[in-house]
Amino acid sequence: MDTSASTLAAPAPRRLRIAIIGAGMAGILAAIRLKEAGTHELVVFEKADRIGGTWRENTYPGLTCDVPAHAYTYSFAPNPDWSSFLAPGPEIQRYFEDVVRRYAIAPLIRFGCAIRSCRFDDTRRLWTITDDQGRDDDFDVVIAATGVLHHPSMPALPGLGEFAGACFHSARWDHGVALDGRRIAVVGSGSTGVQIVSALAGRAARLYHIQRTPQWIMPMPNEPYSEAQRAAFRADPGLIDEIRYGEHYTGLVRRFTRAIIDADAPEMHEIETIVRDNLERSVRDPQLREALRPNYRAACKRLIYSSDYYDKIQQPDVEAVVGAIECIEPEGVRMKDGSLKEADVLVLATGFQADRFVRPIKVRGRGAADLDAQWTPSPSAYLGITLPSFPNFFMLNGPTGPVGNFSLIDIAERQWAYIEQLLAPLARAECALVELRADTLRAYDERRITAARRTIFGSGCSSWYLDATGVPASWPWTYEAFAEQTAKPQAGDYLFTA
Ligand code: NAP
Repeated sequence: MDTSASTLAAPAPRRLRIAIIGAGMAGILAAIRLKEAGTHELVVFEKADRIGGTWRENTYPGLTCDVPAHAYTYSFAPNPDWSSFLAPGPEIQRYFEDVVRRYAIAPLIRFGCAIRSCRFDDTRRLWTITDDQGRDDDFDVVIAATGVLHHPSMPALPGLGEFAGACFHSARWDHGVALDGRRIAVVGSGSTGVQIVSALAGRAARLYHIQRTPQWIMPMPNEPYSEAQRAAFRADPGLIDEIRYGEHYTGLVRRFTRAIIDADAPEMHEIETIVRDNLERSVRDPQLREALRPNYRAACKRLIYSSDYYDKIQQPDVEAVVGAIECIEPEGVRMKDGSLKEADVLVLATGFQADRFVRPIKVRGRGAADLDAQWTPSPSAYLGITLPSFPNFFMLNGPTGPVGNFSLIDIAERQWAYIEQLLAPLARAECALVELRADTLRAYDERRITAARRTIFGSGCSSWYLDATGVPASWPWTYEAFAEQTAKPQAGDYLFTA
């Protein structure tokens, strides 16, 4: 990259002190890449006592990644041992733990260290990071890998505190609570609620799936890999590459992103036909079928993949309850129609505060610029990575990145390759600071918001994709456009300060 500071006379290379916040999928990636480069001093801050991010936090029954397992792996660490086409959550957690072990990342991680604030000092040109014990540490560069869907959203349901049984959010699963033979009510019909209900059907004495809004369901078979297949993957990694880079999966991603950015595209009509047929074919009782028919377009809310959900909710011990909740009573869930769904266990699969990103960490940039203020009413970041007034501060999977039905690992790897190129002039001491130009973000947001309103996410439903202004916050262009725009930073987009 040609930087405006590159005319400086060949200065000595710099060893940067780099802080990575978060030891989930993206933070581990950054740590591995920086450790391999071997140039810089690294500290990874992790608030919990284990790595894993979303796969550590979510342990609910039925947790499965609906992105094909071989595509949900680091490009440099394929895993021939996945047990099935879609991997269960605990197996994914073990994969990340194994990668951390293989790449010897653990010694770089400060566990149990929650970051409270990051403050940029204009004079010293350093970031001071303060943890929840009040300890300060200075860094040249901050990489925020703090995750996307992280902070549970608790529903404001009257009487919630009065429930007499066990009650918890899906991302705070209480494994001490017995499930077998109990009456269980699950609130929420996103990917999480659907996976939980599919897993608990047949175990609970009575299972209620309470859904304010029914969802479109895309069938997705999940076949186990045989030992012979796993041996073949071990013997020939090309077979794994065929799954993750071959036409079948990449074609799906291309067609899906084309569909979501153009609600009238033939690819979108294809999706609509599949999910409609799935509903017609799978739900026998016409009354239930109509109750489960969404009144918005497929993929407006994040599409749900399941091949057994409709079967499970038609079992005699399971009831799909479509409608609004009046309140929670000690005995169960009182619906607006007056019925009471009596339960011993209440599971809140009610989603996440999707606009938090780095927050609640307080981030103060150049001139004491306040991230919270900059992100009011809604967060944005150039390519989901950089922000004006926050020099040498980079995000992985920050706001406006492509969060959808494909691999976030791939997205993070592309973003990391982009960040590496921005770190290079710092490491060559060609400049001390790299900062996004304010007009770069302004122009990006103008284009982005116009395009986002036209995506399927903006076609008239509520979902976590929408920001506080009602604009879909996810990347509104094709997958290829993301790959292209993150391939190489444009020097004109940034200020390089010597
Ligand atoms: P979600 O998609 O945001 O769904 C939350 C659900 O809770 C919705 O059905 C919502 O109803 C309901 N809800 C919220 N407040 C409510 C209230 N006061 N009363 C009644 N219902 C209420 O959350 P999620 O299911 O946890 O999924 C979030 C995202 O995580 C997914 O979209 C996906 O990106 C990711 N995820 C991925 C996988 C995977 O396999 N890769 C698995 C799980 C999750 P309304 O629709 O009416 O608002």
